[in-house]
Amino acid sequence: MRVTNTLLLLLLLTCLLLGSFACRTVAPDSENGEPRQQAKYIGCSSTMVFHRTDCRYCDTIKPENRVEFFSVEEALNAGYRPCKACKPGGD
Ligand SMILES: [Zn+2]
Repeated sequence: MRVTNTLLLLLLLTCLLLGSFACRTVAPDSENGEPRQQAKYIGCSSTMVFHRTDCRYCDTIKPENRVEFFSVEEALNAGYRPCKACKPGGD
């Protein structure tokens, strides 16, 4: 009967390990306890233009000129104008 108990214990441990692994894959961002904040728009401080994050011009912005915004209003209030190519907030 001792063997059966050991097997049950192993099974239980495996379930716990698999369970915690599943939790990690579902919510990897909660690992460091920080709230998820993904910028929706990227501004360039040298041209004062802001873009959607998927705009091709985002790649041309130098890291030191890169400004992140979470709404169109935030970017407009900061004095940025929307990009004519990707039209952030245009639709
Ligand atoms: Zn753009």
